[in-house]
Amino acid sequence: MRLSSTLARGLVELPEPPGPIGMYVCGPTVYARAHIGNARPYVVGSWYARWLRLRGYEVTLVHNITDVNDKIYEAAPGVSAERAREATEWYLEDVGRFGLDEVDHFPKATEAIPEIVRFISDLIERDFAYEVEDDVYFRVAKQAEYGRLSGQKPDQVEEQEPNARKEDPRDFALWKANKPDEDTWWESPWGRGRPGWHIECSAMAEKLLGPAFEIHGGGLDLVFPHHENELAQSSAVGHEFARIWMHNGMLRFTGEKMSKSVGNVETMKDVLEKWGRETALLFFLTAHWHSPIDFSNERMESARARGDGLREVFRNPSQPALDGAWERFEQVLDDDFSTPEALAVMHEWRDHDLLRSALDVFGLASLADQRRAPVDVDELARRRQAARSARDFAESDRLRGEIEAAGWEVRDEADAYRLVPKA
Ligand SMILES: [Zn+2]
Repeated sequence: MRLSSTLARGLVELPEPPGPIGMYVCGPTVYARAHIGNARPYVVGSWYARWLRLRGYEVTLVHNITDVNDKIYEAAPGVSAERAREATEWYLEDVGRFGLDEVDHFPKATEAIPEIVRFISDLIERDFAYEVEDDVYFRVAKQAEYGRLSGQKPDQVEEQEPNARKEDPRDFALWKANKPDEDTWWESPWGRGRPGWHIECSAMAEKLLGPAFEIHGGGLDLVFPHHENELAQSSAVGHEFARIWMHNGMLRFTGEKMSKSVGNVETMKDVLEKWGRETALLFFLTAHWHSPIDFSNERMESARARGDGLREVFRNPSQPALDGAWERFEQVLDDDFSTPEALAVMHEWRDHDLLRSALDVFGLASLADQRRAPVDVDELARRRQAARSARDFAESDRLRGEIEAAGWEVRDEADAYRLVPKA
């Protein structure tokens, strides 16, 4: 079992099962509905944890919520705590719709303040951190290995968080003094304030997984400064921290990296409502986790067509797979978790049991449960669609009721509808 790691700049062998495997995947800063790009680390991390568990590993998967941060103060002046709570619920609701359910802990930064304060005190004692007025900064110059994750030479590291009072432009904040317009704060040995972003993840990861664990995941945009700084902090107190750094490629919106500042955003909620969870999961399956993935209507249409193709297999008689078919599937996933290759292997299969087991790895076993609706139910759905187009919603609701009475549910998707057996 091997996985490519940003730190090793190549493939790293995992220990033999059962491990244990501690896995920490950075989650979102919560201040608005999460965009579809935020779903990728969650989905990839959940799939990989599921695969490791199937292969006999004991896995603990941690996915954090950053619920105190500059972005939250900016987005909700005066009510940042309420906004963070609300947006945390939105996020959990959105990712919950993928139906993967592999995460063991969703820690919140605001619930780890004592651990964060202890971590910072430890860094100050070891001379790796210093106070400037009521802020505390990490002393990058003292960390000889700084830059080893992002591949920067220490003397060429970019400036972080400009502040003329710091010893060194590269130093980053561990604790930030409270400002008048910031409504969330805690008391600390350095006065009233709140933690910096990077120390939150070091503290939460070590609280739940210990000072050394196997895999740290997150989007490729987190390598610098976020993960470089997490590693610097934890190594400074003598901890190995994560052994393998699994950075997923970015989701690009029609070719450009998707971000809120560019404005070309589709939220996770919109995407799940418009396309459904199966199509969204199939979309993520089509790209290797470390490559970028382009989000567009065309890509989503093609993911939906794949889903239809896989569903079709279950409408035809099962045909036994060739010997070694499952081994081939295991091989491509064990080797750097290549989901596009796994998908290609699955498309060759007509063996219902085998295909259902493989789909289940990715939360897609529901594709196997599609029965074709009887002709009369199909007819009701067609009449309902016509009523909807004519904006006759009373008739459309009446027909929905008849369809449900026959044991089927009609789901509206873009310009079409789909009939699924009632759960
Ligand atoms: Zn993080």
